[in-house]
Amino acid sequence: MPDTPPSPADAPAAVSAKLRLATVWLAGCSGCHMSFLDLDEFLFDLAERAEVVFSPVASDLKAFPENVDLCLVEGAVANVDNLELALTLRQHSRMVVSFGDCAVTANVPGLRNLLTGPEAVLERGYVELADSGAQLPHAPGIVPELLEKVLPLHEVIPVDLYLPGCPPSAERIRAAIEPLLHGQPPRMEGASMLRFG
Ligand code: SF4
Repeated sequence: MPDTPPSPADAPAAVSAKLRLATVWLAGCSGCHMSFLDLDEFLFDLAERAEVVFSPVASDLKAFPENVDLCLVEGAVANVDNLELALTLRQHSRMVVSFGDCAVTANVPGLRNLLTGPEAVLERGYVELADSGAQLPHAPGIVPELLEKVLPLHEVIPVDLYLPGCPPSAERIRAAIEPLLHGQPPRMEGASMLRFG
């Protein structure tokens, strides 16, 4: 992990080469990624300026790459796989954006924190509510272990920018990332950029 993560003021410098862009899906519903795809024609502009080097919507790469300029992270941190990926992406990304309310606050996945730990969650989901075949999932190395609590991203790694919304609208996503593509920090001000939900 870098000693001092860059701030939005240290947005990726104006790029001559393409900016290396990653998007990551942790514990979320993929709605934030769907909103990203709603960028429509701006996706063509994005493709001119950025190379998508890791994303659930653009590649099936399993290993997070090195030297990423900008990484959008959807979802909270709910299990050991989420945690490992969050630590890895921080290590290899200059700017990390907490992308959507689940990443920013834990939001919907965080509702399970109302129960007392992962055992209670699994018991409720797989035994108490089962119509048939009640059984706790147990497959070490295949089914990732749940963390004790679901955490927002910034409780696990430093983040450089918060982009709230459930999901953030395509307009808001564009307003946040377009300046970054030009080496400028976005203006994260007002309800149009900062309202949750
Ligand atoms: S913030 Fe909303 S849209 Fe995005 S992953 Fe969470 S629940 Fe889905």
